[in-house]
Amino acid sequence: MTLTLDKQVALYEEIAELKKQRKAIMLAHYYQDGAIQEIAEITGDSLKLAREAAKVTDPVIVFCGVHFMAETAKILNPKKTVLLPDLTAGCSLADSCPAPALKKFQDELRAQGIRFQTVTYINSTAAVKALSDWIVTSSNAREIIDRVPKDCQILFTPDQHLGRFLMEETKRPFILWKGSCMVHEVFSVVDMIRLKKQNPQSVTIAHPECPQNMLQVSDFVGGTEAMLKFVGGKPNPTTFNVATEVNMIWQFEKRFPQHTFVPVPGIACACNACPHMAKNTLENIRNCLRDMTPEIGWAPEFNQAEAVIRRSLL
Ligand code: SF4
Repeated sequence: MTLTLDKQVALYEEIAELKKQRKAIMLAHYYQDGAIQEIAEITGDSLKLAREAAKVTDPVIVFCGVHFMAETAKILNPKKTVLLPDLTAGCSLADSCPAPALKKFQDELRAQGIRFQTVTYINSTAAVKALSDWIVTSSNAREIIDRVPKDCQILFTPDQHLGRFLMEETKRPFILWKGSCMVHEVFSVVDMIRLKKQNPQSVTIAHPECPQNMLQVSDFVGGTEAMLKFVGGKPNPTTFNVATEVNMIWQFEKRFPQHTFVPVPGIACACNACPHMAKNTLENIRNCLRDMTPEIGWAPEFNQAEAVIRRSLL
């Protein structure tokens, strides 16, 4: 976000005033620019934001994240206005599992007599959630998988890397959907090893959406909330090499100024920022509060998705 300080302060003031007028609350994912996280009432990973969205009492929610997250907030707050500053803020991982393709595959498995339950990562569309038995995040996946009957196989969608990681952790057979996140897939394992060699005392932490070769050379693997807990448990100043979306560094530095955080670079670029999250800006947050649009509307599949989300996450 390249704004002059004066412009940023002016936008902060406009947004604060509009929030008051509209009785709005702002939720922001950890992968949003730090300037956005700074003025959000609630920041978190997908699970925390879904749980917090369920408790909101304000009539308007401005969701600073991507489309599937705002959909979840709407599903849990059908009577509230849920605004997404840019309606085109999508997700490559959610896009990698279209609902009709999943339905076809499920029908094929059933036709073969395979007993299975569908366990879906929260980074998916409401239509895919509606076809699922369970929704998981990287924080609660172990606990949910334990609830799948032992005589059922697990069809895990859409993230193959998280699925493979969980398959190894739980020692249960998974059928993996071959989706992936464009950000976590392109970290450079070579650069990660180089960082570790340059500073052998450093600790490498990686998100389970990263490919297996990255996870194998990491000291800790976990979602963003788990990373925060892990880092928070280290009392002495430590250097962490971080393999997740780069804006997470802002949250780490704010909470743990005694530590040093080094982003692991990507193969093609040095930053690993999510281009979908980057579509939300202070300007379009101001605009959506001013104009009360774009808004997430209710879709027919939300009814079924709601039942699955409530059973799994709340
Ligand atoms: S970081 Fe990956 S999974 Fe998260 S919103 Fe961006 S593309 Fe989707």
